[in-house]
Parts: sequence; C-alpha cells; structure tokens
Amino acid sequence: MQLVDTHCHIDLDAFDDDREAALDRARHAGVEHMLVIGFEPERWKAALELQGRVPGIAVAAGLHPNSASQFSDEMLDEIATVAKRPEVIAIGETGVDCYWDNAPLELQKQAFAAQIDLARQLDMPFIIHQRDAEKEVLDVLRQFSGTHRGVLHCFTGDWHYAQEVLDLGLYIGLGGAITFKSRTDLHEAAAKIPLERIVLETDSPFMAPVPHRGKRNEPAYVARVAERLAELRDAPLLEVADTTTCNASQLFPGLIDNEQANL
Ligand SMILES: [Zn+2]
Repeated sequence: MQLVDTHCHIDLDAFDDDREAALDRARHAGVEHMLVIGFEPERWKAALELQGRVPGIAVAAGLHPNSASQFSDEMLDEIATVAKRPEVIAIGETGVDCYWDNAPLELQKQAFAAQIDLARQLDMPFIIHQRDAEKEVLDVLRQFSGTHRGVLHCFTGDWHYAQEVLDLGLYIGLGGAITFKSRTDLHEAAAKIPLERIVLETDSPFMAPVPHRGKRNEPAYVARVAERLAELRDAPLLEVADTTTCNASQLFPGLIDNEQANL
C-alpha cells in the first residue's frame, strides 16, 4: 500500500530527537512521499535543507495567516523567489485564521489573495489553511475568476461547506480530525466527498489521529487516516490508498515523480 502525506511539518523541532526514526516509520507504513510545508521564511530554509538530504520530500513555501503581520510587497517577492526553486512545488500554506487571530483580518486576506495570485502567475497549486474562517476564506477565493488549483487542508467542516469548496475546483485534505469520535458532521462529509477530490495528510506534529490523539503526530499515522476514511466510506482500504495517492500526484506534480521537480 502506498500513501502520501500531503501536509506535514517534520522540519519543526518536535522532531529534532528522532527525525530519522520517524521517517523510517513513515516508509514502513508505506508513506514514501511527503510534502513539507514551509509556513514562513525560516521554515522554508529548514524544509529545503531536509529536502536536500532526504529522498521522497518535496517542499511548499508560503506565509501562514498566523504570520501575516510579516506580509509586505518585499515578503511577496521573497515568496516568489523561493517558489521558483525546482524543489518547491506549491505555494502555502496561506489562508485565514480567526481562531488565533494573530494578525489583522484585512492583512490576512490581503496576504492570502496575493499568494493565490502568485500561484496563478507561476502555474502552481496552493495550500489553504482555514480555522474559524469558513466564510472569510470563501470570500477571498471568490474574488478570483474561474476555479482554483489547490487544496483546503485539514478540512473540519460539514458536507455543506465541502460542496462550496468542491465547487471552486479545490481538493479537500483530510487528516486526524476524521478519526475523532464526536465529529459526526465531518464523518458525513468525508463519506460524501468524491474520492477523486480527496488527499490525505497528517499536519504532523499537530492533529494526531486516534489512538494517538493529544500526542505528537507523525507522517506514518496517515495510515490511520486512510483506514478511518475507508471505514467511513465502506470502501476497500487499497482503493482509498491508491486513489488518494493518484490525486496527490495530480494536484502536486513533482511530489511523487521527484525527477520532474528537479528538471
Ligand atoms: Zn500546516
């Protein structure tokens, strides 16, 4: 079984003590490809360093909404410069976060729109972070014409919201939240979203799935997400694994076919 972790932060210091062991466990679980999300300039560097020495890793670079107070024209130029490196295959994560509320909403929306614009100019997919900001995220996405090429990561909404996201052409990233027992509205959505539009992720070290909930998450646990999704859909695990892996390679050219990223 081959799985892809389309969203992880294994560059963070939560993995400093056992990063190699965690990567080994991932490979044993069938997770040979991971997208490491650099969410601010310091993290781009760390993710690229990791990419340079670990096979199977690709990098996304962007400015997280919780860091949007750093946003400026110069910052946008920096994102554009790093995004043009061949190892960087997506822009993000960007979006809106009204939960932590670390930056003014208007600045978050401005930084989000600018990064979508950049992704379009560079013909790259982008990764959306949304927390307590369902409407705000849709508002920004709808400022643009046509459909989008990207993913709403760590989806925690209901079926109604999923449909709005799908209508905009986006993929939906499912992670540990679908294993939480109380989230029956999310379970319903996970069962109804067309499998062709789902990618799997861990968001490691955050959002660990049951039975690791509350502890550190790691890429190997994407297998738990796949198992739970198969249960919720009453579908064979292998079908869920194969289809979501195929989706990940379609959404993120260069993630699985690494040669392509190095052209
Ligand atoms: Zn993330």
